Amino acid sequence: QTIGANLESTAARFADREAFVSCAQGVRLTYAELDAAVDRLATGLLDRGIGHGDRVGIWAPNCVEWALVQYATAKAGAILVNVNPAYRTHELAYALRQSGVRMLVSAQAFKSSDYVAMVDEVAGDLPALEETVFLDGDAWRELAATAADRGRIAERMAQLTFDDPINIQYTSGTTGFPKGATLSHHNILNNGFFVGELLGCTEADRICIPVPFYHCFGMVMGNLAATTHGACMVVPAPSFEPGATLRAVAQERCTALYGVPTMFIAELADPSFAEHDLSSLRTGIMAGSPCPVEVMRRVVDEMHMDEVAICYGMTETSPVSTQTRAGDPLDLRVSTVGRPGPHVEIKVVDPDTRLTVGRGETGELCTRAYSVMLGYWEEPEKTAEAIDAAGWMHTGDLATMDEAGYCNIVGRIKDMVIRGGENVYPREIEEFLYAHPDIADVQVVGVPDERFGEELCACVRLREGAALGDDEVRGFCRGRVAHFKVPRYIMFVDEFPMTVTGKVQKFRLRDEAVARLG
Ligand code: ATP
Ligand code: MG
Repeated sequence: QTIGANLESTAARFADREAFVSCAQGVRLTYAELDAAVDRLATGLLDRGIGHGDRVGIWAPNCVEWALVQYATAKAGAILVNVNPAYRTHELAYALRQSGVRMLVSAQAFKSSDYVAMVDEVAGDLPALEETVFLDGDAWRELAATAADRGRIAERMAQLTFDDPINIQYTSGTTGFPKGATLSHHNILNNGFFVGELLGCTEADRICIPVPFYHCFGMVMGNLAATTHGACMVVPAPSFEPGATLRAVAQERCTALYGVPTMFIAELADPSFAEHDLSSLRTGIMAGSPCPVEVMRRVVDEMHMDEVAICYGMTETSPVSTQTRAGDPLDLRVSTVGRPGPHVEIKVVDPDTRLTVGRGETGELCTRAYSVMLGYWEEPEKTAEAIDAAGWMHTGDLATMDEAGYCNIVGRIKDMVIRGGENVYPREIEEFLYAHPDIADVQVVGVPDERFGEELCACVRLREGAALGDDEVRGFCRGRVAHFKVPRYIMFVDEFPMTVTGKVQKFRLRDEAVARLG
């Protein structure tokens, strides 16, 4: 099935059930209304000559229009290019040029940035870009046809196959410049379906989605998981706000809540936390970066998310590869990324020899599945580096797998620190320091050192009102972790450089540390 055909069958089954709620916009749509709005927009795209395989970009925060464009491009057979709302002109121009975007749908302004001016600045250099349609502008109102042309939509949909590329998603840019993963209907529709199955989703569920749509966490694990099961998508705000998210859960009686760990940390710490009735929550997903055990426990205990799952994956694998399940023992559910998802193979290999390592040993996690991307858009060399001849995606993540198949993400190969010949995984020291009552958050990076090659630097964000010195942090480590894991440098920071998907950009933090240490 293609994404458009799937939406139509869901709309036929659950016509009158609520499909989409955008709290900030005050918009509510049933499945029949959603599908009808998508048809008018798809007709508008066909009217403008958008062809099978043409690239249509979207550069906007979370809103109902984002989802309409997602499904309308799927019906029209266009390839949707998700552009990160945090991009500025340099990255915007890169993404639009690299993917050959013909039409861009964009917000006019977001977070005090003027998108219109930024598009103006780059458009002159982009020969493929014919048109930019700004949401809330006249062009947007004109884009959707007044009546849907069902005949023409059906004709186009009949030409599509589920292996067609449908989406170019740029990775988060956590480790460097983002790469454009090209995904098919088959890749993401199935992954969304299995995520919905994991959560036991039915048409009675309401999924709160504060994670960005531009990322697969929002548009696949959120939107496609919902529409493959007839569940409702609830969007609290254009971008993440902890208070607005909690309010949306309470007012909309959401049954599931998504987030990266930093979002759950912010919600638990929000001054309004106790005011919201979260008793409707049953499940949800924490994913995207290492999930601290402590935070998982609080999510289960204080947010009623008894069945919460941890998922691990990456844009290149649609995204989910491994997942914890409600029936897993609690300690494994909060401390591992679970076992391979349905129809997914996982192995852990020595990054140099590419041979499988023993259970419990650390190596690079590789995935082979229906969900592995078609490739990086027009980058055959990078694709060949990432996906080997046997179809295994080499993730760049270090992991272990136990006898029963539970995996643990130890860290990224790029983040591993080699100090005096010893491999040190920052994640381990972060988990350890995180337990200190005065430390709100901590990131450990390697900085160059003449004697040891690299030295550890712990970048510490203190809790409000806490006072802690370098020596006390080191003292906390001494005697509890091996001497070579005790950070040589401690740097106190107010915030970390983050991606919009809520991940810490360690490469930036490392540059900052190197600059400050002089
Ligand atoms: P880039 O590839 O541009 O540097 P990115 O890898 O962060 O950015 P994404 O595709 O959004 O881009 O994220 C995938 C990565 O996120 C994985 O490779 C892994 O490092 C990390 N990750 C995802 N889920 C988890 C998890 N549950 N636990 C630990 N790490 C995770
Ligand atoms: Mg990556």
